[in-house]
Amino acid sequence: MDIISDRLKRIQPSQTLVISAKAREMKAKGRDIISLSAGEPDFDTPDNIKSAGIKAIQSGQTKYTDVGGTLDVRRAIAQRLNTDYGLNYKPEEVAVSSGGKQVIFNAMMASINPGDEVIIPAPCWVSYPDIVTLAGGTPVIVPCSEQLAGFKLQPDQLEAAITPKTKWLILNSPCNPTGAAYSAQELRALCDVLLKHPNIWVLTDDIYAKLVYDGFESTTIVQIEPRLKDRTVTMNGVSKAYSMTGWRIGYAAAPVEFIKAMMKLQGQSTTNPCSISQAATIEALAGSQQSVAEMVKTYQKRRDIVWELLNNIPGLSCAKPEGAFYLFPSIKGCLNKTSKAGIKIVNDEAFVTALLEEEGVAAVHGAAFMTDGYFRISYATSTELLKEACTRIRHFCTNLQ
Ligand code: PLP
Repeated sequence: MDIISDRLKRIQPSQTLVISAKAREMKAKGRDIISLSAGEPDFDTPDNIKSAGIKAIQSGQTKYTDVGGTLDVRRAIAQRLNTDYGLNYKPEEVAVSSGGKQVIFNAMMASINPGDEVIIPAPCWVSYPDIVTLAGGTPVIVPCSEQLAGFKLQPDQLEAAITPKTKWLILNSPCNPTGAAYSAQELRALCDVLLKHPNIWVLTDDIYAKLVYDGFESTTIVQIEPRLKDRTVTMNGVSKAYSMTGWRIGYAAAPVEFIKAMMKLQGQSTTNPCSISQAATIEALAGSQQSVAEMVKTYQKRRDIVWELLNNIPGLSCAKPEGAFYLFPSIKGCLNKTSKAGIKIVNDEAFVTALLEEEGVAAVHGAAFMTDGYFRISYATSTELLKEACTRIRHFCTNLQ
């Protein structure tokens, strides 16, 4: 009998983690690799946050907490949601998990029955479809055109994707991998469709909400339409905005009954998230936000530099995103050409494979995000390395024949 479950066989390993591991392996063998594949800030966790973690260890905050996090961290989260969006959540309507990924996992596992459908606009983060599948649901991928809609879900597309089996819409703004972010007006139009379908819940993944540029203002579903509050899970976390990926803290704000359901699951799986990380999160959310402002300034500069460099490379074209730390260039002009080493660029996977082998630049193919013909690079790395990476990508593309 096979030890591996059918359930597990239905899902794929995270492609971004696979490519990052491959790049690390090549580096370990002495290859000169620039890795632009990971969705991870290159900044250190700000000192005030690290100090709060150290203080928590020294003062003995090293034991189990409530499954959904300490009252203090849940209060800090509710306060941040109030400051950022004017939302009013009570601490019992908030729960903390080991990363935003666990929030999404909890939400899907706590709600999906076999065959339930989850609408996922694409390009989308690699993990959504697999988490839905693992939970026994059916991901309904809705392709969002770059040319027509800037990679954003349009109200008529949402309406058309809804069936009697639809349970969730997962919305991610700013989006991984495109960086596209929904304006208040664009969210309003989607809310109008959702109001017509009272059984559909929304999971809004706002993990990149603080990383927006050119004065863009992040908004979220419940802020735009309070009538959707009783069927929305507002998800966020500290990984990206506060450069805290390793601390593993994400959170949900949702109706209390749904919070309880997710915590029933978490109580039988990981229990509470790390107590020390919870203490550090209080400082991240309630302390000075200066370091976030500085990181955002740097990301914006890098986005502008890389965007310009990429758009000057023959065969590539790239939209200018509102947020996150990714660019998602089209490789349309490179398709069906052959690389210097003789690899035919039949698709985006061939493109990133050849780019890694021949130039030592690791990026993620668009198909991993449910969108062929593109690749994702993360600009959460030094400007110097980004410029060198662009030089290598240029070398690769100009040599295609
Ligand atoms: N949502 C999106 C869109 C992401 O890109 C990520 C991380 O890459 C996450 C959620 C999860 O982040 P974490 O589990 O580190 O909080």
